[in-house]
Amino acid sequence: MAMTDPILHLRTRHESQDDQGAATATVRTSVTVPLRFADGYATTGQVMTFRGLTDAKEHLAIGLGDWEGALARSARGGQPPLVRPHSECLTGDVLGSQRCDCGPQLREAVERIAREGGFLLYLRQEGRGIGLYEKLDAYALQDLGLDTYEANAALGHGEDERDYAPAAHMLHAVGARRIRLLSNNPDKAMQLETFGIRVEERVTTGVHLTDANARYLAAKVNHTGHALALPKIA
Ligand SMILES: [Zn+2]
Repeated sequence: MAMTDPILHLRTRHESQDDQGAATATVRTSVTVPLRFADGYATTGQVMTFRGLTDAKEHLAIGLGDWEGALARSARGGQPPLVRPHSECLTGDVLGSQRCDCGPQLREAVERIAREGGFLLYLRQEGRGIGLYEKLDAYALQDLGLDTYEANAALGHGEDERDYAPAAHMLHAVGARRIRLLSNNPDKAMQLETFGIRVEERVTTGVHLTDANARYLAAKVNHTGHALALPKIA
């Protein structure tokens, strides 16, 4: 029976943290997947799995557009590939929940990256890292008047437990050490830099405002310095 040696696992984790993410992760499989979204937009993704990610979760990197050309250009000192780390959101990504902006963010990111060449990193950290069930518990608290950060705190969690180390390790593994980061979140850029990825430009995403997510987006802006130009809510 194949079992992971826990000591070896710990050592691997320790080593890859020591050298600031100059990653031990490698690409495990790379497979072409034709993608079609609910609105009809279609493109092709090169979906990659990895060996040696430090948290043993099944994170994915999806090469979009001319990602190989973008890597080659970057290696010659040209413009680096466009990269979006996207944290899994079952309700938003799959079910089209209006309580957050994850679905439209994902859809926008795929098209923008496909146009320019780069990677979407699909990170298995649901609900800012607290998991799906507790995210839904937090929604119940939000219905009592707490904002998204207060609700996580009330459940005994940090405001944001997301960890971008696996994102950095995947980028090292695919050879994208310099990137243009598609994100409004300053914490993502800082964490990736900590793990040895050079964020040469931050490219902001669009605003996807609905009646149901207005309070959530306002909390993002006020609480964590997200760069979103929100219309004033009376
Ligand atoms: Zn979401």
